[in-house]
Amino acid sequence: MSSAAVLSLPALARAVQNSSTPYQRPKLKITDIRTAEVMVHGLQTHVRVYTDGGLFGEGEATDAAQGTVGVMRMFRRFLVGQDPLNVEALWERLRTTGIFAGAQGGQYITALTGLEIALWDLAGKALGLPVYQLIGGKFRDRVRMYCDSDMEDPMSDEATRKLEWIRTNGFTAMKMDIDEAKDPARFDAVNWTASNGEIDRMVKWVDHIRGAVPKQIDLAVDMHGRYDATTGKRVAIALEPYRLLWLEEPVPPDNIDAMADIRHSTKTPICCGENLYMRWGFRELLEKRAADIIMPDIQKVGGLAEAKKVADLAHTFFVPFAPHCVVSPIGTMASAHVCVAIPNFLVCEWHWINHLDLWRNFVKEGEIIHQGHISVADRPGLGIEMNEEAARKAQVPGSTWFEPNTQS
Ligand code: MG
Repeated sequence: MSSAAVLSLPALARAVQNSSTPYQRPKLKITDIRTAEVMVHGLQTHVRVYTDGGLFGEGEATDAAQGTVGVMRMFRRFLVGQDPLNVEALWERLRTTGIFAGAQGGQYITALTGLEIALWDLAGKALGLPVYQLIGGKFRDRVRMYCDSDMEDPMSDEATRKLEWIRTNGFTAMKMDIDEAKDPARFDAVNWTASNGEIDRMVKWVDHIRGAVPKQIDLAVDMHGRYDATTGKRVAIALEPYRLLWLEEPVPPDNIDAMADIRHSTKTPICCGENLYMRWGFRELLEKRAADIIMPDIQKVGGLAEAKKVADLAHTFFVPFAPHCVVSPIGTMASAHVCVAIPNFLVCEWHWINHLDLWRNFVKEGEIIHQGHISVADRPGLGIEMNEEAARKAQVPGSTWFEPNTQS
């Protein structure tokens, strides 16, 4: 029997680490995991992984972030003392040990995502390389962003001002919402079968916006997964003349066959996936050809390496990758590192048009979007640093701010 066969896994990991020379691989141990919560477009949890070497890495999780601080405390018990550079091994260990605790999606995977992003930032800082380099290198230097217009009413003066802002700021794509709970043509407050009046209103909104922005600006339209299958099909067909970039989640993503029916009934490209988790969440969607474009949220799908694996899986179906993104410049830059490192990147979301001051001050680098694009940072790690004074303006009232954990 070989000597390796009698070693336990942790002992084997130690042996591998000890056989590396110091200049090839720094020896670090995780000493603490700390969090801070901010409320901007929903709730974001910022995660910091501290080490005995004095370095820390920073990540951001969103959307399903409520309650992730508690999940992180549970992760911390396993992580303290571990080598932070084995990013994927730590991720897999936490995922597989959590399969009875919700590690299929939701808060558990969202917390794991924020942690994983912080580990990559830390690894980059420890090794002196940008994160995109660690996950395979660059296909492109710049990331094309689309502006979510976040319009209350597309026919209003507010909308006209926003469209002008989107155009003059050099965006080449934008998104609008057409689901409207307060539509007077709705017959029922609960059921989302759209009436003819509602479908006419949706078409009118899209017609107005499509006519108001130059043809070179692509238009995506979101239905937020609220409607039923018959409505989804009718709206997708009614919007065909507008040559949309995509129609987003005409039905909820929970029934892939229903999504596939819509996709196969229309020429309008269907986009789906902001509420799906990890590779397993996207497998059936891709196998059933239910979406033309996928849109994982990189701050909750599982992390940067996981997002890249989802993108690679989609690439085997020749499906492009257009991530959902509603986070601060820290998480957005983390997304940018993935977007430059995959072949099938289409466009990435930006959703802070209603929070411009906070956006521009949230990090020490200031504005990171120029002419509708992000140039991926070339500094070690994510290459971006929080301006805490500005960020704390959005701190969740009563929450703690990267408070050290004293209990083991
Ligand atoms: Mg959406």
